[in-house]
Amino acid sequence: MRPIDALRRRLRERRRKLLRLVTNTEDEILALDTNVPAELEEEAQEARLATVLVWLDDRITAEIEAIDHALTRIERGDYGTCEDCNDPIPVERLHILPAATTCVHCAAAREATARMRAAS
Ligand SMILES: [Zn+2]
Repeated sequence: MRPIDALRRRLRERRRKLLRLVTNTEDEILALDTNVPAELEEEAQEARLATVLVWLDDRITAEIEAIDHALTRIERGDYGTCEDCNDPIPVERLHILPAATTCVHCAAAREATARMRAAS
């Protein structure tokens, strides 16, 4: 099997797993809504839990989008090339992070920019 086929399979498997997680999370949020009236303290706890679940849901959705992006790039044939500097992304990095779209240097640069934006 070519390395890219193995990576594609891993991306697809991860995507399936994440979709299952999203479904489970949505079920849990629904379950919270249909609960019998609770004491105030329990309600506060449920609100906190719901916030965590929504946050988790956002994270999972973002990762699924990143995976879809990587799969599109595989189909297009530009998978494994850094989006910022066009250098090839080392295979070792892709094995750890199959959905990576940038090399380590550009990823660090992006992070630094995001941190600066968050701080200002
Ligand atoms: Zn780069």
